[in-house]
Amino acid sequence: MSDLKYCQGPECHTYFTQDRVKGPQGHKTNQTRRRSSLYYGNGNFCDMRCQNDWFRQYGTQAVNYFGRLTEAKHLTEHNAWTKDYDWRHGVGESHLYYFLNTITKERRPLTEAQYNDSNYTLNTGE
Ligand SMILES: [Zn+2]
Repeated sequence: MSDLKYCQGPECHTYFTQDRVKGPQGHKTNQTRRRSSLYYGNGNFCDMRCQNDWFRQYGTQAVNYFGRLTEAKHLTEHNAWTKDYDWRHGVGESHLYYFLNTITKERRPLTEAQYNDSNYTLNTGE
């Protein structure tokens, strides 16, 4: 248990649950949750409430910092590739993975590794 992470929720310590009560006998306090794995917000929050609290407090700053959208994006055949698969349930069969262009309806085969690689795309524009 050497790699515990704190929930990043700014109000986490204010919610009353038994697992937040920590410290030596007689000096226990309600504390920010700390766990080896957090399952919300890319592993940064203990629950949806803490994730929402963070966004309420910092979301606008974050959007401004990382770049606010100031004009509409357009879906074209150059950025309409999505990944999908057909379920195969036979013994030893793997699913049939493919790219699907949601504009042209063209399909191109994918390997399972390409399907799972979030950086692998055919999209060439925004
Ligand atoms: Zn929390």
